[in-house]
Amino acid sequence: MDVSLTIYAVLMVAISAVYIWRQRRTYERHNQTLQDSVAAGMTEPASLHPLINDSKCLGCGACVKACPETSHHDVLGLINGKAVLIGPTDCIGHGACKTACPFDAITLVFGTARRGLDIPLLKPNFESNVPGIYLAGELGGMGLIKNALTQGQQALEAIAKAGVKRPGALDVLIIGAGPAGLAASLAAKKMGLSYQTIEQEALGGAVFQYPRGKLVMTAPVELPIIGKVQFRNTSKETLLKFWNEACHGNGLKISYQERVEAIENKDGAFHVRTTKSQHVASAVLLGIGRRGTPRKLGVPGEEMSKVVYRLIDPEQYRGKHVVVVGGGDSALEAAASIAELGDTTVALSYRGDAFQRAKQRNRQRVDQASAKGQLNVLLNSQVREIRPEEVVMKQADKEIRLRNDAVIVSAGGILPNDFLKSIGIQVETKWGTE
Ligand SMILES: Cc1cc2nc3c(=O)[nH]c(=O)nc-3n(C[C@H](O)[C@H](O)[C@H](O)COP(=O)(O)OP(=O)(O)OC[C@H]3O[C@@H](n4cnc5c(N)ncnc54)[C@H](O)[C@@H]3O)c2cc1C
Ligand code: SF4
Repeated sequence: MDVSLTIYAVLMVAISAVYIWRQRRTYERHNQTLQDSVAAGMTEPASLHPLINDSKCLGCGACVKACPETSHHDVLGLINGKAVLIGPTDCIGHGACKTACPFDAITLVFGTARRGLDIPLLKPNFESNVPGIYLAGELGGMGLIKNALTQGQQALEAIAKAGVKRPGALDVLIIGAGPAGLAASLAAKKMGLSYQTIEQEALGGAVFQYPRGKLVMTAPVELPIIGKVQFRNTSKETLLKFWNEACHGNGLKISYQERVEAIENKDGAFHVRTTKSQHVASAVLLGIGRRGTPRKLGVPGEEMSKVVYRLIDPEQYRGKHVVVVGGGDSALEAAASIAELGDTTVALSYRGDAFQRAKQRNRQRVDQASAKGQLNVLLNSQVREIRPEEVVMKQADKEIRLRNDAVIVSAGGILPNDFLKSIGIQVETKWGTE
Protein backbone atom coordinates (compact mmCIF):
# COMPACT_ATOMS: atom_id res chain seq x y z
CA MET A 1 0.00 0.00 0.00
CA ASP A 2 1.37 3.39 -0.84
CA VAL A 3 2.44 5.59 2.07
CA SER A 4 -0.01 8.42 1.42
CA LEU A 5 -2.90 5.92 1.37
CA THR A 6 -1.73 4.49 4.69
CA ILE A 7 -1.51 7.97 6.24
CA TYR A 8 -4.98 8.75 4.88
CA ALA A 9 -6.41 5.49 6.33
CA VAL A 10 -4.80 6.10 9.73
CA LEU A 11 -6.13 9.65 9.75
CA MET A 12 -9.64 8.46 8.91
CA VAL A 13 -9.56 5.84 11.66
CA ALA A 14 -8.28 8.44 14.14
CA ILE A 15 -10.98 10.97 13.20
CA SER A 16 -13.69 8.29 13.41
CA ALA A 17 -12.37 7.15 16.78
CA VAL A 18 -12.41 10.72 18.14
CA TYR A 19 -15.93 11.22 16.75
CA ILE A 20 -17.24 7.99 18.31
CA TRP A 21 -15.51 8.78 21.61
CA ARG A 22 -17.06 12.27 21.68
CA GLN A 23 -20.49 10.88 20.76
CA ARG A 24 -20.26 8.31 23.52
CA ARG A 25 -19.29 10.98 26.06
CA THR A 26 -22.23 13.12 24.97
CA TYR A 27 -24.61 10.15 25.30
CA GLU A 28 -23.21 9.39 28.76
CA ARG A 29 -23.67 13.01 29.79
CA HIS A 30 -27.24 13.04 28.49
CA ASN A 31 -28.00 9.81 30.34
CA GLN A 32 -26.52 11.21 33.54
CA THR A 33 -28.55 14.44 33.20
CA LEU A 34 -31.74 12.42 32.77
CA GLN A 35 -30.93 10.23 35.77
CA ASP A 36 -30.19 13.34 37.85
CA SER A 37 -33.50 14.92 36.85
CA VAL A 38 -35.40 11.75 37.77
CA ALA A 39 -33.54 11.27 41.06
CA ALA A 40 -34.26 14.88 42.04
CA GLY A 41 -37.92 14.54 41.03
CA MET A 42 -37.43 17.31 38.47
CA THR A 43 -39.34 15.67 35.68
CA GLU A 44 -42.17 18.11 35.10
CA PRO A 45 -41.63 21.06 32.73
CA ALA A 46 -42.98 24.41 33.93
CA SER A 47 -45.10 25.18 30.89
CA LEU A 48 -44.91 24.69 27.10
CA HIS A 49 -42.45 21.92 26.18
CA PRO A 50 -41.72 19.36 23.44
CA LEU A 51 -43.44 15.99 23.30
CA ILE A 52 -41.34 13.66 21.13
CA ASN A 53 -42.99 11.04 18.98
CA ASP A 54 -40.58 8.07 19.20
CA SER A 55 -41.89 6.41 16.08
CA LYS A 56 -41.13 9.52 14.00
CA CYS A 57 -37.81 10.48 15.66
CA LEU A 58 -34.76 9.29 13.73
CA GLY A 59 -32.26 10.61 16.24
CA CYS A 60 -30.64 13.19 13.96
CA GLY A 61 -30.04 15.51 16.94
CA ALA A 62 -31.16 18.67 15.11
CA CYS A 63 -33.50 19.53 18.02
CA VAL A 64 -30.70 19.13 20.58
CA LYS A 65 -28.48 21.55 18.64
CA ALA A 66 -31.31 23.99 18.01
CA CYS A 67 -32.33 24.40 21.66
CA PRO A 68 -31.14 27.90 22.68
CA GLU A 69 -30.81 26.82 26.32
CA THR A 70 -28.13 24.23 25.41
CA SER A 71 -25.38 26.78 26.15
CA HIS A 72 -26.47 26.76 29.85
CA HIS A 73 -28.21 23.44 30.44
CA ASP A 74 -28.83 20.16 28.66
CA VAL A 75 -32.56 20.32 28.05
CA LEU A 76 -32.89 17.88 25.15
CA GLY A 77 -30.56 14.94 24.66
CA LEU A 78 -30.16 11.78 22.60
CA ILE A 79 -30.62 8.50 24.44
CA ASN A 80 -30.65 5.19 22.55
CA GLY A 81 -30.87 7.10 19.28
CA LYS A 82 -33.99 9.06 20.19
CA ALA A 83 -34.48 12.61 21.39
CA VAL A 84 -35.47 12.84 25.07
CA LEU A 85 -36.35 15.79 27.31
CA ILE A 86 -33.52 15.21 29.78
CA GLY A 87 -33.73 18.47 31.74
CA PRO A 88 -37.51 19.08 31.83
CA THR A 89 -37.44 21.85 34.42
CA ASP A 90 -34.90 23.83 32.37
CA CYS A 91 -37.16 23.89 29.31
CA ILE A 92 -38.62 27.34 28.80
CA GLY A 93 -40.70 26.62 25.71
CA HIS A 94 -38.64 28.35 22.99
CA GLY A 95 -40.08 25.84 20.49
CA ALA A 96 -36.88 25.98 18.40
CA CYS A 97 -36.70 22.17 18.60
CA LYS A 98 -40.04 21.76 16.86
CA THR A 99 -38.99 24.07 14.03
CA ALA A 100 -35.64 22.28 13.67
CA CYS A 101 -37.01 18.72 13.47
CA PRO A 102 -36.99 17.61 9.82
CA PHE A 103 -39.31 14.68 10.58
CA ASP A 104 -42.14 16.51 12.34
CA ALA A 105 -41.56 14.37 15.43
CA ILE A 106 -42.12 17.18 17.95
CA THR A 107 -45.35 18.65 19.26
CA LEU A 108 -45.37 21.48 21.80
CA VAL A 109 -47.67 20.70 24.72
CA PHE A 110 -48.73 21.95 28.17
CA GLY A 111 -48.59 19.73 31.27
CA THR A 112 -47.77 16.05 31.32
CA ALA A 113 -49.75 12.84 31.82
CA ARG A 114 -48.62 12.93 35.49
CA ARG A 115 -49.04 16.60 36.24
CA GLY A 116 -51.74 18.72 34.73
CA LEU A 117 -51.13 22.39 34.02
CA ASP A 118 -53.89 24.90 34.67
CA ILE A 119 -54.26 27.32 31.77
CA PRO A 120 -56.75 30.15 32.36
CA LEU A 121 -59.64 30.35 29.92
CA LEU A 122 -59.37 33.58 27.96
CA LYS A 123 -61.35 35.32 25.25
CA PRO A 124 -59.41 36.37 22.13
CA ASN A 125 -59.09 39.87 23.64
CA PHE A 126 -57.34 38.38 26.75
CA GLU A 127 -60.33 38.96 29.05
CA SER A 128 -60.91 36.15 31.55
CA ASN A 129 -64.29 34.75 32.55
CA VAL A 130 -64.41 37.54 35.18
CA PRO A 131 -65.46 40.63 33.19
CA GLY A 132 -62.85 43.37 33.61
CA ILE A 133 -59.97 41.06 34.56
CA TYR A 134 -57.52 40.46 31.72
CA LEU A 135 -54.43 38.22 31.58
CA ALA A 136 -51.29 38.51 29.45
CA GLY A 137 -47.96 36.75 29.04
CA GLU A 138 -46.81 33.50 30.55
CA LEU A 139 -49.70 33.30 33.01
CA GLY A 140 -52.03 32.75 30.07
CA GLY A 141 -49.83 29.87 28.88
CA MET A 142 -47.81 31.70 26.23
CA GLY A 143 -44.20 32.08 27.38
CA LEU A 144 -41.27 33.97 25.86
CA ILE A 145 -40.40 37.63 26.02
CA LYS A 146 -41.73 38.66 22.63
CA ASN A 147 -45.09 36.98 23.22
CA ALA A 148 -45.44 38.57 26.65
CA LEU A 149 -44.55 42.04 25.29
CA THR A 150 -47.04 41.69 22.44
CA GLN A 151 -49.85 40.33 24.59
CA GLY A 152 -49.34 42.97 27.29
CA GLN A 153 -50.03 45.78 24.85
CA GLN A 154 -52.85 43.92 23.06
CA ALA A 155 -54.63 43.28 26.37
CA LEU A 156 -54.26 46.96 27.25
CA GLU A 157 -55.71 47.97 23.89
CA ALA A 158 -58.70 45.71 24.62
CA ILE A 159 -59.14 47.35 28.04
CA ALA A 160 -59.03 50.81 26.43
CA LYS A 161 -61.56 49.68 23.81
CA ALA A 162 -63.95 48.35 26.47
CA GLY A 163 -63.69 51.85 27.99
CA VAL A 164 -65.19 50.96 31.39
CA LYS A 165 -64.75 53.86 33.83
CA ARG A 166 -65.90 53.70 37.47
CA PRO A 167 -66.00 56.88 39.50
CA GLY A 168 -62.90 57.39 41.65
CA ALA A 169 -61.18 54.33 40.13
CA LEU A 170 -58.06 54.00 37.98
CA ASP A 171 -58.81 52.92 34.42
CA VAL A 172 -56.53 49.94 34.91
CA LEU A 173 -54.31 48.38 37.53
CA ILE A 174 -51.47 46.39 35.98
CA ILE A 175 -50.04 43.65 38.17
CA GLY A 176 -46.49 42.51 37.41
CA ALA A 177 -43.66 44.37 35.68
CA GLY A 178 -42.25 41.55 33.60
CA PRO A 179 -42.32 41.94 29.81
CA ALA A 180 -46.15 41.70 29.74
CA GLY A 181 -46.63 44.34 32.45
CA LEU A 182 -43.96 46.61 31.00
CA ALA A 183 -45.54 46.66 27.52
CA ALA A 184 -48.97 47.14 29.09
CA SER A 185 -47.69 50.10 31.14
CA LEU A 186 -46.22 51.72 28.01
CA ALA A 187 -49.53 51.15 26.19
CA ALA A 188 -51.54 52.63 29.07
CA LYS A 189 -49.32 55.70 29.08
CA LYS A 190 -49.52 56.07 25.30
CA MET A 191 -53.32 55.83 25.32
CA GLY A 192 -53.63 58.33 28.15
CA LEU A 193 -55.33 55.93 30.58
CA SER A 194 -55.07 56.41 34.32
CA TYR A 195 -53.07 53.41 35.51
CA GLN A 196 -50.73 52.08 38.16
CA THR A 197 -48.39 49.10 37.88
CA ILE A 198 -47.57 47.01 40.94
CA GLU A 199 -44.49 44.77 41.10
CA GLN A 200 -43.46 42.60 44.04
CA GLU A 201 -39.81 42.50 43.03
CA ALA A 202 -38.02 44.39 40.24
CA LEU A 203 -38.52 45.42 36.63
CA GLY A 204 -38.10 42.62 34.10
CA GLY A 205 -39.91 39.73 35.79
CA ALA A 206 -38.28 36.42 34.93
CA VAL A 207 -35.59 38.27 32.94
CA PHE A 208 -34.42 40.02 36.11
CA GLN A 209 -33.92 36.57 37.66
CA TYR A 210 -31.84 35.10 34.82
CA PRO A 211 -28.24 34.21 35.71
CA ARG A 212 -25.67 36.96 35.09
CA GLY A 213 -24.67 37.26 31.44
CA LYS A 214 -27.36 34.88 30.19
CA LEU A 215 -27.76 34.94 26.44
CA VAL A 216 -31.32 36.02 25.76
CA MET A 217 -32.86 34.87 22.50
CA THR A 218 -35.73 37.00 21.39
CA ALA A 219 -37.15 38.64 18.29
CA PRO A 220 -37.78 42.23 17.14
CA VAL A 221 -40.97 43.71 18.50
CA GLU A 222 -42.92 46.97 18.21
CA LEU A 223 -43.45 48.65 21.60
CA PRO A 224 -45.85 51.51 22.41
CA ILE A 225 -44.10 54.93 22.62
CA ILE A 226 -40.68 53.35 21.91
CA GLY A 227 -41.35 51.91 18.45
CA LYS A 228 -39.45 49.04 16.85
CA VAL A 229 -37.01 47.25 19.15
CA GLN A 230 -34.50 45.14 17.27
CA PHE A 231 -33.08 42.76 19.91
CA ARG A 232 -32.48 39.20 18.72
CA ASN A 233 -29.57 37.69 20.66
CA THR A 234 -28.64 39.88 23.55
CA SER A 235 -27.60 39.66 27.18
CA LYS A 236 -29.82 39.88 30.21
CA GLU A 237 -28.00 43.04 31.31
CA THR A 238 -28.40 44.86 27.97
CA LEU A 239 -32.10 44.06 27.83
CA LEU A 240 -32.74 45.16 31.40
CA LYS A 241 -30.78 48.39 30.86
CA PHE A 242 -32.91 49.15 27.82
CA TRP A 243 -36.15 48.44 29.69
CA ASN A 244 -35.07 50.47 32.72
CA GLU A 245 -34.31 53.44 30.47
CA ALA A 246 -37.66 52.99 28.74
CA CYS A 247 -39.39 53.09 32.12
CA HIS A 248 -37.55 56.01 33.63
CA GLY A 249 -37.39 57.99 30.39
CA ASN A 250 -41.16 57.81 30.07
CA GLY A 251 -41.97 58.23 33.75
CA LEU A 252 -43.96 54.99 33.98
CA LYS A 253 -45.90 54.63 37.21
CA ILE A 254 -44.52 51.40 38.61
CA SER A 255 -44.46 50.69 42.32
CA TYR A 256 -41.80 48.12 43.24
CA GLN A 257 -41.57 45.85 46.27
CA GLU A 258 -45.36 45.87 46.49
CA ARG A 259 -47.25 42.58 46.22
CA VAL A 260 -50.90 42.17 45.36
CA GLU A 261 -52.57 39.91 47.89
CA ALA A 262 -56.29 40.00 47.08
CA ILE A 263 -58.73 41.34 44.50
CA GLU A 264 -62.38 41.91 45.32
CA ASN A 265 -65.11 43.06 42.98
CA LYS A 266 -67.38 45.59 44.72
CA ASP A 267 -70.17 47.09 42.61
CA GLY A 268 -68.20 46.65 39.39
CA ALA A 269 -64.95 48.19 40.63
CA PHE A 270 -61.95 46.08 41.62
CA HIS A 271 -60.58 46.69 45.11
CA VAL A 272 -57.02 45.47 45.11
CA ARG A 273 -55.25 44.90 48.41
CA THR A 274 -51.46 44.95 48.36
CA THR A 275 -48.71 44.67 50.96
CA LYS A 276 -48.49 48.48 50.97
CA SER A 277 -51.91 49.89 50.16
CA GLN A 278 -55.37 49.51 48.60
CA HIS A 279 -56.13 50.43 44.97
CA VAL A 280 -59.44 50.74 43.17
CA ALA A 281 -59.57 50.13 39.41
CA SER A 282 -62.16 49.69 36.67
CA ALA A 283 -60.10 46.93 35.07
CA VAL A 284 -57.19 44.73 36.13
CA LEU A 285 -54.46 43.27 33.94
CA LEU A 286 -52.65 40.28 35.43
CA GLY A 287 -49.14 39.91 34.01
CA ILE A 288 -47.81 37.92 36.95
CA GLY A 289 -46.16 35.06 35.06
CA ARG A 290 -46.09 31.53 36.42
CA ARG A 291 -43.15 31.50 38.81
CA GLY A 292 -45.25 32.71 41.73
CA THR A 293 -44.23 34.47 44.87
CA PRO A 294 -41.11 33.34 46.74
CA ARG A 295 -41.92 31.50 49.95
CA LYS A 296 -40.89 33.45 53.04
CA LEU A 297 -39.46 32.18 56.32
CA GLY A 298 -41.82 34.21 58.50
CA VAL A 299 -39.14 35.07 61.07
CA PRO A 300 -38.33 38.39 62.76
CA GLY A 301 -35.93 40.52 60.73
CA GLU A 302 -36.91 39.03 57.36
CA GLU A 303 -38.01 42.46 56.11
CA MET A 304 -34.38 43.70 56.13
CA SER A 305 -32.97 44.61 52.73
CA LYS A 306 -30.11 42.13 53.14
CA VAL A 307 -32.63 39.28 52.78
CA VAL A 308 -33.28 38.23 49.16
CA TYR A 309 -35.11 35.31 47.61
CA ARG A 310 -32.91 34.54 44.59
CA LEU A 311 -29.23 34.60 43.78
CA ILE A 312 -28.60 36.88 40.82
CA ASP A 313 -24.83 37.23 40.84
CA PRO A 314 -22.43 35.42 43.22
CA GLU A 315 -19.83 38.19 42.73
CA GLN A 316 -21.90 40.63 44.78
CA TYR A 317 -21.20 38.51 47.88
CA ARG A 318 -17.39 38.68 47.67
CA GLY A 319 -15.82 38.96 51.12
CA LYS A 320 -19.21 38.60 52.84
CA HIS A 321 -20.76 36.36 55.50
CA VAL A 322 -23.73 34.71 53.83
CA VAL A 323 -26.49 32.35 54.96
CA VAL A 324 -28.37 30.41 52.27
CA VAL A 325 -31.62 28.74 53.33
CA GLY A 326 -33.15 25.79 51.47
CA GLY A 327 -32.50 22.26 50.28
CA GLY A 328 -33.37 22.33 46.59
CA ASP A 329 -31.20 22.92 43.54
CA SER A 330 -31.34 26.69 43.63
CA ALA A 331 -30.25 26.78 47.30
CA LEU A 332 -27.39 24.36 46.67
CA GLU A 333 -26.28 26.19 43.51
CA ALA A 334 -26.38 29.54 45.33
CA ALA A 335 -24.43 28.27 48.35
CA ALA A 336 -21.81 26.46 46.25
CA SER A 337 -21.22 29.30 43.80
CA ILE A 338 -20.73 31.86 46.60
CA ALA A 339 -18.55 29.47 48.63
CA GLU A 340 -16.40 28.72 45.56
CA LEU A 341 -15.41 32.40 45.38
CA GLY A 342 -13.05 31.47 48.19
CA ASP A 343 -13.15 34.75 50.13
CA THR A 344 -16.61 34.28 51.66
CA THR A 345 -18.07 32.59 54.73
CA VAL A 346 -21.13 30.63 53.70
CA ALA A 347 -23.59 28.56 55.73
CA LEU A 348 -26.25 26.45 54.05
CA SER A 349 -29.19 25.88 56.38
CA TYR A 350 -31.79 23.21 55.63
CA ARG A 351 -34.51 21.85 57.88
CA GLY A 352 -34.30 18.32 56.39
CA ASP A 353 -31.64 15.71 57.13
CA ALA A 354 -30.44 15.23 53.51
CA PHE A 355 -30.58 17.08 50.19
CA GLN A 356 -32.89 14.58 48.51
CA ARG A 357 -34.60 17.15 46.27
CA ALA A 358 -31.39 18.31 44.58
CA LYS A 359 -29.49 17.04 41.55
CA GLN A 360 -26.44 14.91 42.12
CA ARG A 361 -24.06 17.41 40.52
CA ASN A 362 -25.22 20.13 42.94
CA ARG A 363 -24.90 17.78 45.90
CA GLN A 364 -21.35 17.01 44.77
CA ARG A 365 -20.51 20.72 44.52
CA VAL A 366 -21.80 21.23 48.06
CA ASP A 367 -19.83 18.23 49.36
CA GLN A 368 -16.65 19.51 47.70
CA ALA A 369 -17.03 23.04 49.04
CA SER A 370 -17.80 21.62 52.48
CA ALA A 371 -14.77 19.30 52.38
CA LYS A 372 -12.55 22.30 51.52
CA GLY A 373 -13.95 24.20 54.48
CA GLN A 374 -15.57 26.81 52.22
CA LEU A 375 -19.14 25.89 53.17
CA ASN A 376 -20.76 25.14 56.52
CA VAL A 377 -23.67 22.74 55.92
CA LEU A 378 -26.26 22.89 58.71
CA LEU A 379 -28.80 20.11 58.26
CA ASN A 380 -31.86 19.86 60.56
CA SER A 381 -31.52 23.56 61.24
CA GLN A 382 -34.01 26.42 61.21
CA VAL A 383 -33.54 30.16 61.08
CA ARG A 384 -35.16 31.77 64.12
CA GLU A 385 -34.26 35.42 63.72
CA ILE A 386 -32.35 37.66 61.34
CA ARG A 387 -30.51 40.54 62.97
CA PRO A 388 -28.50 43.33 61.34
CA GLU A 389 -25.18 41.59 61.93
CA GLU A 390 -26.08 38.00 62.73
CA VAL A 391 -28.51 35.18 62.09
CA VAL A 392 -29.88 33.14 64.96
CA MET A 393 -30.55 29.47 64.16
CA LYS A 394 -31.67 26.39 65.96
CA GLN A 395 -30.11 22.99 65.25
CA ALA A 396 -31.52 20.18 67.40
CA ASP A 397 -31.56 21.84 70.84
CA LYS A 398 -28.59 24.06 70.12
CA GLU A 399 -28.80 27.76 69.38
CA ILE A 400 -26.32 28.90 66.74
CA ARG A 401 -25.42 32.53 65.98
CA LEU A 402 -23.67 33.27 62.75
CA ARG A 403 -22.07 36.52 61.72
CA ASN A 404 -24.02 37.73 58.73
CA ASP A 405 -24.11 40.30 55.92
CA ALA A 406 -26.65 38.66 53.61
CA VAL A 407 -29.35 35.98 53.61
CA ILE A 408 -30.59 34.18 50.49
CA VAL A 409 -33.84 32.29 51.02
CA SER A 410 -34.43 29.62 48.34
CA ALA A 411 -37.45 27.92 49.83
CA GLY A 412 -39.52 27.56 46.67
CA GLY A 413 -42.49 29.63 45.56
CA ILE A 414 -46.23 29.88 46.08
CA LEU A 415 -47.71 29.33 42.62
CA PRO A 416 -50.41 31.69 41.35
CA ASN A 417 -53.11 28.95 41.10
CA ASP A 418 -54.77 29.67 44.44
CA PHE A 419 -54.67 33.41 43.75
CA LEU A 420 -56.42 32.87 40.40
CA LYS A 421 -59.06 30.68 42.06
CA SER A 422 -59.62 33.28 44.79
CA ILE A 423 -60.65 35.81 42.16
CA GLY A 424 -62.82 33.34 40.28
CA ILE A 425 -60.66 32.83 37.16
CA GLN A 426 -61.61 29.59 35.42
CA VAL A 427 -58.85 27.33 34.17
CA GLU A 428 -58.56 24.39 31.83
CA THR A 429 -56.20 21.64 32.98
CA LYS A 430 -53.92 20.35 30.21
CA TRP A 431 -52.39 16.89 30.57
CA GLY A 432 -49.68 16.89 27.91
CA THR A 433 -51.87 18.39 25.22
CA GLU A 434 -51.55 21.34 22.82
C1 LIG B 1 -34.15 30.71 33.08
C2 LIG B 1 -35.07 31.26 32.02
C3 LIG B 1 -34.56 31.61 30.78
C4 LIG B 1 -35.39 32.15 29.80
N1 LIG B 1 -34.83 32.53 28.61
C5 LIG B 1 -35.63 33.12 27.67
C6 LIG B 1 -35.09 33.57 26.44
O1 LIG B 1 -33.88 33.46 26.17
N2 LIG B 1 -35.93 34.14 25.55
C7 LIG B 1 -37.27 34.28 25.80
O2 LIG B 1 -37.98 34.81 24.93
N3 LIG B 1 -37.80 33.87 26.97
C8 LIG B 1 -37.03 33.29 27.89
N4 LIG B 1 -37.57 32.87 29.08
C9 LIG B 1 -39.03 33.02 29.29
C10 LIG B 1 -39.40 34.49 29.58
O3 LIG B 1 -38.53 35.04 30.55
C11 LIG B 1 -40.83 34.54 30.10
O4 LIG B 1 -41.69 33.86 29.20
C12 LIG B 1 -41.31 35.98 30.21
O5 LIG B 1 -40.50 36.69 31.13
C13 LIG B 1 -42.77 36.02 30.68
O6 LIG B 1 -43.13 37.34 30.90
P1 LIG B 1 -44.36 37.74 31.85
O7 LIG B 1 -44.36 39.23 31.89
O8 LIG B 1 -45.57 37.03 31.41
O9 LIG B 1 -44.01 37.12 33.27
P2 LIG B 1 -42.73 37.29 34.20
O10 LIG B 1 -41.53 37.65 33.42
O11 LIG B 1 -42.67 36.05 35.03
O12 LIG B 1 -43.10 38.54 35.12
C14 LIG B 1 -44.12 38.47 36.07
C15 LIG B 1 -43.89 39.56 37.11
O13 LIG B 1 -45.01 39.60 37.99
C16 LIG B 1 -44.56 39.80 39.31
N5 LIG B 1 -45.59 39.31 40.22
C17 LIG B 1 -46.00 38.00 40.37
N6 LIG B 1 -46.96 37.93 41.32
C18 LIG B 1 -47.16 39.21 41.76
C19 LIG B 1 -48.03 39.77 42.74
N7 LIG B 1 -48.91 39.03 43.43
N8 LIG B 1 -47.96 41.12 42.96
C20 LIG B 1 -47.08 41.91 42.26
N9 LIG B 1 -46.24 41.40 41.31
C21 LIG B 1 -46.29 40.08 41.07
C22 LIG B 1 -43.27 39.00 39.38
O14 LIG B 1 -42.44 39.47 40.43
C23 LIG B 1 -42.68 39.26 38.00
O15 LIG B 1 -41.82 40.39 38.02
C24 LIG B 1 -36.78 32.32 30.07
C25 LIG B 1 -37.30 31.97 31.32
C26 LIG B 1 -36.46 31.44 32.29
C27 LIG B 1 -37.04 31.08 33.65
S1 SF4 C 1 -34.87 16.76 15.38
FE1 SF4 C 1 -36.68 15.38 15.32
S2 SF4 C 1 -35.85 13.46 14.44
FE2 SF4 C 1 -34.06 14.67 15.00
S3 SF4 C 1 -33.60 13.94 17.12
FE3 SF4 C 1 -34.93 15.72 17.38
S4 SF4 C 1 -37.02 14.86 17.50
FE4 SF4 C 1 -35.67 13.23 16.65
